[in-house]
Amino acid sequence: MTDHAFQRCIHPQCGTTVELTSTTFQCPKCGGLLDVAYDWNRLPVPTSLKHFESKWTDRTNPLNFSGVWRFRELLPFAPDSKIMTIGEGQTLTRLSDTVGAYVGMRPGRLYLQYEGMNPSGSFKDNGMTAAFTHAGLVGARRAACASTGNTSASLAIYCAGTNLMRGVVFIGSGKISYGKLSQALEHAALTLQIAGDFDDALRRVQEVSRQLGIYLVNSVNPFRLEGQKTIMYRALEALGWEVPDWIVVPGGNLGNSSAFGKAFMELADLGLIARPPRIAVINATGADTFYQLYEKHGVRWNGGAPDGKKVGAYLKMLDDSGAKADTLASAIEINRPVNLPKALRALERCGGVVREVTDQEMLDAKAKIGAGGLGCEPASAATVAGLMKLVKEGIIGPDERVVGVLTAHLLKDPTATVAYHTSDPKTFEDVLGKRGVKRVAFANRAVQVPNDLEEILKAIELYA
Ligand SMILES: *Cc1c(COP(=O)(O)O)cnc(C)c1O
Ligand SMILES: [Zn+2]
Repeated sequence: MTDHAFQRCIHPQCGTTVELTSTTFQCPKCGGLLDVAYDWNRLPVPTSLKHFESKWTDRTNPLNFSGVWRFRELLPFAPDSKIMTIGEGQTLTRLSDTVGAYVGMRPGRLYLQYEGMNPSGSFKDNGMTAAFTHAGLVGARRAACASTGNTSASLAIYCAGTNLMRGVVFIGSGKISYGKLSQALEHAALTLQIAGDFDDALRRVQEVSRQLGIYLVNSVNPFRLEGQKTIMYRALEALGWEVPDWIVVPGGNLGNSSAFGKAFMELADLGLIARPPRIAVINATGADTFYQLYEKHGVRWNGGAPDGKKVGAYLKMLDDSGAKADTLASAIEINRPVNLPKALRALERCGGVVREVTDQEMLDAKAKIGAGGLGCEPASAATVAGLMKLVKEGIIGPDERVVGVLTAHLLKDPTATVAYHTSDPKTFEDVLGKRGVKRVAFANRAVQVPNDLEEILKAIELYA
């Protein structure tokens, strides 16, 4: 099976192929990003997506239990015996009319894809299982990543859960939330706190991996994106294999947007869907490189030749002005998205848009998502805040069918949540106020009551 899979430069003008087992994740000819590519003609591709439903009946097989690998015919780069799974991808696509009403959509139209149900609590596990499978194929002994938190949590739990490799985690100083840091530590990864931000940590981990031959699991690794394609397969499955009108997803390093685009391109090319959905990528205003380049500077995929000068000039401007990414949504606090070209390709093929939302908009949306019965971290709520904007602008119609991806669990970052709901001005100020959040429109305050039965009963009658 593996002779039919390889790596290939994403730029059609170059198209250089690289063997499956290469771990440099960079085109040797033009320096571009690589895709995992398949010789589909020589592979057993199902003729209908309904085929995958049969996997549910055989859930004692770990490969069919996994919400990633039960779609393995669509990411066929490893033999079954080499697949590294810890039971990821058991996630939920839930209709959410309350959140739908909040963003201005009609009932029955908004679905939230809740990736917080993964083993480490974020969508990253979908990709990590695929990266670990590739690492196993090449015999890697150590794996590393730079992380705003969730990739390191995922790497750590896969190291602990598979015993395949030792994990090394690079994190920027200060910004990582306790929820995520606790996972790296608890799952026994070597944790290096670098004095710098995420972009600094990513540069360092790439140097170190090259020098020491450590397997890199950041999303520049195309195998991760293969696993993340399955988030969309599950969304389609939940909709009875009907393609929604829109997918809305937060944008950080743009791995998800790229993976979703690839998933839909392949499904369309294989004749398994008639048309791809449109994709909306949502940046934070404090980390909006993709928004600026796509919406303000008109940078496009352009058949594989995006305007490198414009991109270079913009990134140089960021460097020269000393600009650092800055948002409460730490998971998308990234100014140099490594998957930019792939995301441009995805948006071209799917007819995409990019928007940016403030921390304020994200936190309000997050409270609404929570009140609607799904708990997510701030970055995930960019999805709903961005969707609201697009509905207001009339880009997304109130009757269109939308799948919004909630990328990670509420408990990843409880600090932001408690600060939003607190009645203590100092707690609010320290976490949110000093970062420009002003309103807490949907705060659910704890009620202070004396330790007295009568008073407690009164409070309940008054408030509940
Ligand atoms: C990693 C992450 C993102 C960003 O995803 P990209 O694929 O890097 O764009 C968004 N939300 C959460 C919770 C994340 O962990
Ligand atoms: Zn190339």
